[in-house]
Amino acid sequence: MKKTTTKKNWGFDTTTLNHSIRPQDDFFEFANGLWIQKNNIPLEESRWGSFNILRHNTDLQLKKILTTLTKKKSALKGSHAQLVRDMYLSAIDTKRRDTLDILPLKPYLKEIEAISSKETLLCYIARSHKHGSGTPWYFILDQDTKKSDQYLFTLWQGGLGMPEREYYLKKEPEQIRVQMAYKAHIKKLLSLSGFSSKEIAGASVIIMAIETALARAAMKKEDTREAEKTYHKYSIAQLERTIPGIAWRKYFTLVGAGHIKEVNVGQPEFFTAVSKLFATMSLKDWKIYLTWQLINGCAPLLSERFVRESFQFYGKTLTGSKQMKPLWRRALGFVNGAIGEGIGKLYVETYFTPEAKKSMDTLVSDLFAVYKERIERLPWMSSKTKQHAISKLHAMKRKIGYPTRFETYKGLRITPTDFFGNTIRTSEFEHTKAMKKSKRPVDRKEWFMTPQTVNAYYHPNLNEIAFPAAILQFPFFSTEVDDAINYGAIGSVIGHEITHGFDDQGSKFDAKGNLKSWWNVKDTSYFTKKGKALVAQFNAYHVTPEITVNGQLTLGENIADLGGLVIGYEAYQKHLKKIGRYDIEGFTTEQRFFLGFAQVEREIARPEFRKMQIFIDPHSPPFARVNGPVSNFLPFYTTFNVRKGDKLYRNPKHRVEIW
Ligand SMILES: [Zn+2]
Repeated sequence: MKKTTTKKNWGFDTTTLNHSIRPQDDFFEFANGLWIQKNNIPLEESRWGSFNILRHNTDLQLKKILTTLTKKKSALKGSHAQLVRDMYLSAIDTKRRDTLDILPLKPYLKEIEAISSKETLLCYIARSHKHGSGTPWYFILDQDTKKSDQYLFTLWQGGLGMPEREYYLKKEPEQIRVQMAYKAHIKKLLSLSGFSSKEIAGASVIIMAIETALARAAMKKEDTREAEKTYHKYSIAQLERTIPGIAWRKYFTLVGAGHIKEVNVGQPEFFTAVSKLFATMSLKDWKIYLTWQLINGCAPLLSERFVRESFQFYGKTLTGSKQMKPLWRRALGFVNGAIGEGIGKLYVETYFTPEAKKSMDTLVSDLFAVYKERIERLPWMSSKTKQHAISKLHAMKRKIGYPTRFETYKGLRITPTDFFGNTIRTSEFEHTKAMKKSKRPVDRKEWFMTPQTVNAYYHPNLNEIAFPAAILQFPFFSTEVDDAINYGAIGSVIGHEITHGFDDQGSKFDAKGNLKSWWNVKDTSYFTKKGKALVAQFNAYHVTPEITVNGQLTLGENIADLGGLVIGYEAYQKHLKKIGRYDIEGFTTEQRFFLGFAQVEREIARPEFRKMQIFIDPHSPPFARVNGPVSNFLPFYTTFNVRKGDKLYRNPKHRVEIW
């Protein structure tokens, strides 16, 4: 049955199409071109597109919740409403924050000043870690990658003020520009903090030297994705032998983890370098470095002049934003960070319907069924490996919308008049929670994103996919629009997350979430070969004439994007058998599916942001997230009649199909 309809709001605005570009040459531009031409990035944003607009709209919903709460005079002490309201009130109390200025940091600066030995140095570092600092390393609770039913603490590289090691080590114009600005930022912040120009001149040289030494020792971002490269489990005695120079046993006691017997070291070379700094660097230099890291890390929590200077570097220089976000959005950011599940619960109660949860649940089941069928049909995989893949798929859990049990924040004290104190107490609360958690069995109900997050994730150790409430909205998902749009958007997102369980890293984990291979040699070799081909494809995408995508860093996401497209498409084909095919505004069912897929990636961004994204983001830029997958996918060729000579055309033997 073929019917033509002109259904008004079918979920894709055809006035955004750029008809001067052929879909066969650049599908991203064809689908989004006029939208891109017609829209500007708001001054306070570094990127603007489907994700950001939805984030912005979600923030407006949250603002309504906050406004209602602030009008309420009384709220039960310790309730979510009270914690959220008072955190927000304290953050927007700029008068008080301006009066205090740098005063909240004074006790910590004094503590640094009092460092007089290696012992007191370690004491300070440990104490700052209880407050969430990552200087010069992070101490994180995770699952044991090889024993996923147990928790294991990880020591992870940190200590840098610029986003990635490349900003210290590369000599390209963009990195030199940022380095210069960072040096100016150091000087400005130290000057606001009351240091003399003589002190500042010496300090900035020392700070840059230390951070550059740390950057040199740091593992490359693409290597930090590799499960084996970041798994080095030591007993505490082994750790003290392997990375000497730091009194590790004492450190663990100081951070409240004196009970642990083992620890994972994410990047041994980095920690070897840090231990050398412990041995060789003078206490005077340590104090300068720690002072800087403290002031820089806390600047957004202080008075207006500190907040502005922080924005000057992290907002303007690094991401190209033109002005600060309005106060309410910044304050909301702190509420989300500190009491995320508290405001999340209120968000879900107000804006998320049981119907949305139910239809998403059905959709996820459909996608799982299609995934199983596809694995069974894979021409390249042996039946033994297929069995393992299917049992992993069967074991994969799903989380939709919001946690069954929200964090209660019991014992956390939040007051409307103490913003800095609130943030410190929140960090301490989270730290204490992690210490307690580490002694218990793994909590499988925990979420790693709040319900109001516009995103989704796969967790390899838990072997689960999760979709927060906020992503279950248009243009990702809506009961109001044509099914093609939903399958192209949220269908592909679900397929994307499932595929993470089978991407270059996820595939190394078994059904129970342990790093343990279930592949035979032949299948591994095919899979690796296809992965390498995908790396080469993405390495060839240019962000600027000089800068290309990092195919290795983005490999996992690119495999997931490709899998998401394929699975979403197949699920839609299955669905079409039930509902029949029809055209809307001259677009066939299949064409609309691809438009829905391209629409969620619609985005414009500032050049500074794009240049940074290449180093820090494991996702490819939007045009590549659309044109990459479709150029490998045969149904796209048939749907849009792609032929040899078209820009998106790839020779069949160069196309990559994995899942
Ligand atoms: Zn992903």
